[in-house]
Amino acid sequence: MAVDLPSIKDAKDLKGKTILLRTDLNVPIKDGKVTDPFRIERTLETIKFLKESEAKIILISHLEDDKGTLEPVAKYLVATFPTLVFVKDIFAPSTKKEVSSMKNGGVILFENLRNWPGEKTNDPNFAKHLASYADVYVNEAFSVTHRNHASVVLLPKLLPSFIGIEFGREIKELSLAFYPEHPFTLILGGVKFDTKFPLVKKFFNVADKIFIGGAIANSFFKHQGFFVGDSVAFDSPEIKNLDEAVKLGKIILPTDLRVQSKGFINVKKPNQVSVGEKIWDIGPQTEKELKKIIDDSKFIVWNGPMGYFEEGATLGNDACAKAIGESKATSIVGGGDTIASIQKLGIMNKIYFVSTGGGAMLDFLANGTLPGIVAIQENQKVEKVSFFKNFFK
Ligand code: ADP
Ligand code: MG
Repeated sequence: MAVDLPSIKDAKDLKGKTILLRTDLNVPIKDGKVTDPFRIERTLETIKFLKESEAKIILISHLEDDKGTLEPVAKYLVATFPTLVFVKDIFAPSTKKEVSSMKNGGVILFENLRNWPGEKTNDPNFAKHLASYADVYVNEAFSVTHRNHASVVLLPKLLPSFIGIEFGREIKELSLAFYPEHPFTLILGGVKFDTKFPLVKKFFNVADKIFIGGAIANSFFKHQGFFVGDSVAFDSPEIKNLDEAVKLGKIILPTDLRVQSKGFINVKKPNQVSVGEKIWDIGPQTEKELKKIIDDSKFIVWNGPMGYFEEGATLGNDACAKAIGESKATSIVGGGDTIASIQKLGIMNKIYFVSTGGGAMLDFLANGTLPGIVAIQENQKVEKVSFFKNFFK
């Protein structure tokens, strides 16, 4: 399932061109300061490449908070790009002037796109307005490419469109999962059952083992008729289709758990949870079993923490992360919370590839494509005939 997309690295004649560079600068901010620049850092290579190509760069991004401001991100970026200009109102007449007076290699950051409703409502007029500032569109925001938002799916209808350098890496590395080395183990955890369950289906015949921890596992326990106390657990009619796979050991569930009640943690078997207790983490026996599975794997995809780690249930999750870090397997890890958990351990560099995409990674793995990818492919078909002929070396 090769995904062939035009990379900005292969474009020529970028000198003097104005680029709308869709980035994902949706980073955690506290007291007006960026607290985790992971995603910003992953966009720098493409920005630097465009600067070296003497293009004019307009950075566009959203923040999760529709009313939030990207000003702290602008301040963070100024350290790398001292002449960066932050534009608060993308509709102000002064913005046109600001853009048209840009020098080659200049960088402007537009305010949070979600300050305007058109971004999320996928408004063609909003997209047209954005496109009016630029000659070329580049998507370097893999992590939002599953969203049907104007800056993701409509801009490629309006401008010659490319993917960024990091975007290309995401596609290349995540695509390894479609032709994996074996044994291939898929490890799922976290809480977002609806977004993770499709992966079980998709990789059922591809993965050798699927380990399920976190709150997702609670749903299986509930289905098996075990009492789950106050644990987070979802009901899904589809779980019953996996009964056989669980019995055969293709799908592996925790054999013991750390259970929390009134601030105390106890280790229990899944069928021993009682009233008022919450399943918080995988247990020590499960840690060992999971490590063995990881050690025997050649390829691993991990998404979703094994426990409620923000609340202190870190042991099981840390054990999983460390085992993956120590293993020789090609490991691909993604998910906002999963990444936060391995960052805390300082083992990011031990993972073969850390995806910037949470939902986007899951959707890409499940479907082999994303709405923003389709949009660029459609654009390429049109542009190849005209503009692209001159654009490619
Ligand atoms: P990701 O962001 O990595 O894709 P999710 O958003 O699906 O993962 O889930 C992460 C959340 O799941 C974290 O807040 C984590 O603490 C929580 N979690 C994991 N296991 C449990 C559990 N047993 N009970 C409650 N929350 C859990
Ligand atoms: Mg999350």
